[in-house]
Formats: sequence, C-alpha cells, structure tokens
Amino acid sequence: EHYVGVYGPEIDAIPVGSKISLSYTVEVAGKAMQPDFESVIERKMHSWINCIEGVMHTGQRDMIRIRISKADFEAGFKFKHLGEVLYAKVKSEFEAVVDKCQITLITDAAEAEKFRDEVAMPRYNQRDDRLASMTDEAVDRYFTCIMCQSFAPAHCCVVTPERLGLCGAVSWQDVKDTKEMDPAGPCQPILKEGCTDEKLGRYASVDEAVNKYSHGALEHVTLYSLFQDPMTSCGCFECICGVEPVSMGVVITCREFAGMTPLGMTFSEMASMTGGGVQTPGFMGHGKHYIASHKFLKAEGGVGRLVWLPKELKDQIRDKLNETAKDMYDIDNFADMVADETSCPNGNPEELLAFLSEVGPPALSMDPLDI
Ligand code: SF4
Ligand code: ZN
Repeated sequence: EHYVGVYGPEIDAIPVGSKISLSYTVEVAGKAMQPDFESVIERKMHSWINCIEGVMHTGQRDMIRIRISKADFEAGFKFKHLGEVLYAKVKSEFEAVVDKCQITLITDAAEAEKFRDEVAMPRYNQRDDRLASMTDEAVDRYFTCIMCQSFAPAHCCVVTPERLGLCGAVSWQDVKDTKEMDPAGPCQPILKEGCTDEKLGRYASVDEAVNKYSHGALEHVTLYSLFQDPMTSCGCFECICGVEPVSMGVVITCREFAGMTPLGMTFSEMASMTGGGVQTPGFMGHGKHYIASHKFLKAEGGVGRLVWLPKELKDQIRDKLNETAKDMYDIDNFADMVADETSCPNGNPEELLAFLSEVGPPALSMDPLDI
C-alpha cells in the first residue's frame, strides 16, 4: 500500500547540471477527505520539499522549480526520495483526512507535459472559477497565511475572496479549509471589524492580525493599496507591480517573463526590491488572478491604472480583464489598451507614453499618484 513510483529516468540517469521536466501526483483517499482539501495539501508541499536539506522549491502549480544540490546527489538522493517525503508528510500531517496515499513522479518530459495539459491545468482552472463570483463584501472574515515564514519570518498574507495569496496558489477557500483541517495552523481568521477606510481596505482587525503574526514587524497593512501600507511580499509572488512615473500608470511583470519592463527593470530586479517580508510602497507582489479583480489597486483607481504587462500574461487573463474593465469603467477591449513587449519593443517610458496617448486607457485620465 506504500507506493512511490517514478515514471521516466531517475536522477543518476541524467547529466549533472541538467534541467528536466518533473511532475508529481499525490493520490489520497480517506473517509473525511473532501475535494476542496486538495489545494490545501498541495500548497504544503512547498514547505515540505524546502525542508529537505540541499533541496530548494520555489513557485506553485505548473511554475515550480526544484533544485537538488550536488552534495545530495553524491549522497545518493533520488527523485524517488521526493516522493517518499511527500508520502510521509501527507500521511502524518493530514492523518485526520488521509487514510491511504500513493505518489507517482513523472520525469519523462513528454508525459509530464501531457499530464499538465490534460489533468493539472483543467483542475487549476476549475479551482479558479469556483471563486470567481465571490466578493469580499459577501463574507464576514478574511484569513492570514503565514506558511512562508520559514523564508520570510515577518511576512503575512491576508487572503480575501477577491485577493488570493501572492503565490497564486492560496485562495480564500483554501485558507478557510486550512483553518478547518489544522485549527492551530498557518491560517487564522480575521473578523471584518473596525473598517476605517473602505477604499484602502483598512481594518483595525487586519492591523491587529498582521501585527501579531509578523511578531510586531508590521503595524498597518491595507488590503487594496499599493502606496499606503501595502501588503508585504515573501518571495513566492507570481507577479510584481510597480509604478511607472511618466504615465502615472502601473506596470506588471511575471516570473515567466525574463525581458525588460518600461521601469528599466526585469522581474528579478523588481523582485529584489520587493521580497523579504518588508513593505515597499510603489512595489508589490501579487497573484495573477488578483489583476482582474475588482479590488486590484482599488485605492489607486483600480485595474484601469494598468499600462503595461507581458503579452503572455495578458493573453492568459484577457477575458477577465476585459470583463472587469467593462464593469468598472464601461470600456470595451481594455486589454488592447494595455501595452506589452510587442506594442512597445524598446520598453522605455517615452515609447510607452506614445502608445498610451494613441489608445487612451483609463490611467491617462486618472488623478496623478501621490508618489
Ligand atoms: Fe501563504 Fe502567502 Fe506564502 Fe501563499 S505566499 S503560501 S498565501 S504566506
Ligand atoms: Zn512565500
């Protein structure tokens, strides 16, 4: 009943220093198991794999990168051992809901890709859709997530229905389920009490929670502002947004995009200013699905502030982006008003402004930001 299988080459069959595609599937069964728990268990794999000495795990969903040190390899570490760790942790940490567990790792590139497209992606989309109709107004509580404190000791995400965790892998439903499965765990409720500024999303109860869970490092955090006490970032963000001072708009880049942004910075350069659990007004890490939310940069005028993002990311969220902008500003095809690396190939602020002046997005008629 203890099954951990590797489909494809083991680590000693591939050259040292090479990159391969890997997927792992954890199948669980149990009387108390619910489909909603799936993403909760999945996100914990990030911390478990990181706890293996000499192994590093970053990212989420189909954007995970795992690095295995040469020392581990020389000591005999195999892909199979990743599966053994997952098996042992799922069985021990989720014993209340998991009776049986089996793990399959795929290291064959074609098979891993097929599995991603046919099994994993539809599942991720299903999870995202389930939350699409929920609003922050409709619930009586938000939740903290401090799962990333092993890397960023002062970091605390506040997760709401319309603002998922910056890793993009933790939704409001997930934090709620985490609390249920692990009552003393990383996700604790924040009752929506003491709202002092609706637009910023400033709550006495949120301040109190982030102060407590950041161990005093944070005093004030707003839910919807990029400038006033923005949420902190660990290092897991799917995207980073930052202010572009010439157009007074906001630029977003994502982990998959290695190119330059009109800020004159790449993703990794922006990441180095943003991570570590500190507040950096004007820069913020966030999940992809937060962008098309009605609460994205609400304090700064909403998603209409957006002036540039990588084409691939734009295409991923195009429909939702257009829908939200239609709803908020009554404009059609908003996505086409936002520049990308194809409409601004030089990636500088002058070119960006020239493009924007032609298409006239909402950002150009908004009040200047108080930078
Ligand atoms: Fe939790 Fe935030 Fe880390 Fe995601 S990035 S696991 S929501 S603390
Ligand atoms: Zn993190």
